[in-house]
Amino acid sequence: MNRFCLIGHPLGHSVSPEIQQKLFRLNGLSGEYILREIVPGELGGKIAELQSFDGFNITIPYKKEIIPFLNGVSEKAGIYESVNTVKNENGRLIGYNTDAEGFRRALAAFSLPLEGRVLLCGAGGVASTIACTALQNGCALTVAARNFEKAAAFCDGLRSRFPGKIIEPSFLKTVSGRFDLVVNATPAGMLHYNNENPVPEPVLRAAGGVFDTVYNPAQTPLLQRAGELGIKCGGGMPMLVWQAAAAQEIWLGVRFRDADIEQICREMQSKLGLSNTPSGKR
Ligand code: NAP
Repeated sequence: MNRFCLIGHPLGHSVSPEIQQKLFRLNGLSGEYILREIVPGELGGKIAELQSFDGFNITIPYKKEIIPFLNGVSEKAGIYESVNTVKNENGRLIGYNTDAEGFRRALAAFSLPLEGRVLLCGAGGVASTIACTALQNGCALTVAARNFEKAAAFCDGLRSRFPGKIIEPSFLKTVSGRFDLVVNATPAGMLHYNNENPVPEPVLRAAGGVFDTVYNPAQTPLLQRAGELGIKCGGGMPMLVWQAAAAQEIWLGVRFRDADIEQICREMQSKLGLSNTPSGKR
């Protein structure tokens, strides 16, 4: 039986094992997919154990930290400086980035084009992959964060990898303009985090489309408001499921049909629930 795992910290609420098992079943496969929590500072000591798996996924906070321990990375993962999928190729650990594929496939599922002017809210891990994907697509990028210095440093890091591209930092509360696509890459609106819409109303009113990476709940305050305004929009569940599917495509050479992925998204969404019950404001 194929053996896979997810490494990260913390992993308590991860729905990845359930998604991976649903994906295995679609191709009539049986596989093991377990959670391997690694406390910060101990990643290096766990590499030998990880060699016993056929592959593994990586989440916060190790997507960058894993790279020096690998035998190679795909071109995209190298440019993105982010690895979320590793394949064990006869003892050689090769890193890939399937978050970008998940993002692309999710936008396609909602018929949201990745072109023109893109506003990216947030300057953390998922924002980094989305920024690189947008820039590779030729988009002009504005990165808005609640801390302007963080947005500026994030943009400086991008400019060195994407010279000549339009990349501008902004302060999230005061960002303005008309964007073809607005992406929330902050946890704002996430269950047990807060129930805030991070996008200023004038920006939202003028937006061509909205994508929220948050997948729990399905209907975030941002998506609810975008819907009220009649703006085309979608949430993060297809991104989560497609990045998992893309990992299995790399590990196992399998392929997935859109309709099957949509069905898994529906199942996961109904399991997680549709509403946001905040338990704090951060
Ligand atoms: P991260 O690395 O911790 O980055 C979070 C970013 O959001 C930081 O820029 C942070 O700013 C900002 N932020 C946090 N709280 C905020 C608030 N209340 N208002 C405005 N900005 C805020 O996290 P990440 O890995 O990028 O993940 C971010 C979110 O993306 C997750 O919470 C999850 O919902 C979603 N996500 C979805 C998928 C998917 O497949 N759909 C995958 C990964 C993540 P500071 O630096 O100032 O704290």
